[in-house]
Amino acid sequence: MHLLLYAFALLVVLSNASPLYRRAPATIHSTCTVPGTFAITVDDGPYNQTWDLIKYLNEQNVHATFFINGKNWVDVATDSTLTSDGEKTYMDHVRFMHSSGHQVASHTFTHQILTDLTEDEIIDEMNMMSDLIYEAIQERPRYMRPPNGAYDDATQATLGNLGYEMVLWDLDSKDYINHNATVNERVFVQAFKDEDPKAQVTPAAISSKPEVSKPTPLPTGSHIALMHDVHYQTGPELIPWLVGQLRTRGYKMTTVADCLDDPRPYQ
Ligand SMILES: [Zn+2]
Repeated sequence: MHLLLYAFALLVVLSNASPLYRRAPATIHSTCTVPGTFAITVDDGPYNQTWDLIKYLNEQNVHATFFINGKNWVDVATDSTLTSDGEKTYMDHVRFMHSSGHQVASHTFTHQILTDLTEDEIIDEMNMMSDLIYEAIQERPRYMRPPNGAYDDATQATLGNLGYEMVLWDLDSKDYINHNATVNERVFVQAFKDEDPKAQVTPAAISSKPEVSKPTPLPTGSHIALMHDVHYQTGPELIPWLVGQLRTRGYKMTTVADCLDDPRPYQ
C-alpha cells in the first residue's frame, strides 16, 4: 500500500513537472484578413507626441493599435509629459488609448531582442509589461509585437505558451531610419498604386460607359502598417497624411484585432 501511495505521489510530482510548452506556438499575423481593412500600428511609445496623436485619431474616428513598452524612451510607471491638455502621466496615456477604443498591445517591457533572451527572461519581459498594462486598464494584452520583428522557434513557443498572438507587418514606413514623412510615405504610395483597380483593368474589360458613372470600387487589399510614435514626424505628419489617403481610397481603419475579425484583443 505504501509503495502504491509512493508511486502515486511520484506520478503527481512528474505530471506537475509539465512540459515547457503546454500551448501551441504563437500565431504570427503579418497582414489583416478582413478585405479593405487597414491597421495603423505604432510601436515603442508612449512618448511625448502620443497624447496628441490619440486626440487626432479620435477626432478622425480612427482606431489604431499601440504596441507599447514599459521602459524604453520613458518610464511609463513614473514619468509624465506636457500635452495640449496639460501635464499627463504615461499611465494616463495608456488609459486614454484604451478608453478611446484603441488596442493596447505589448512590445515587451524594455524592448529587448527576444532571440537574445532565455525563456525565463522572455517570460519576465512579457509578464512585467502585462502587469503594467493591467495596472493601467485592468486588461491584459493578448497581442504582442517582438522588438525589431525578431523571433525564432523558441520565442514563438514561449509566447504561445503565455497566450499571445504575434503581430508583424506587411508595410514598413521605415520612420525609424529616415525622419522625413515624405520619404516614409513612399511604401504606402507604392502599395496604393499596386492595388489601384484602374491600373489592373485589362483593355477587354474597359467599359464603354463613361468613367464617372462607375462607383468608386472599395479596396480589396488589407494591411498592417508599421510606424513609431517616438519619431517627431510620425504623429504630426505621416499618420495624418496616411489617414487622409486611406479615407479617400475607402479603407476601413481598424485595430489589429478587428482587422483579423478577432473579438478578443485582451487575455
Ligand atoms: Zn520597437
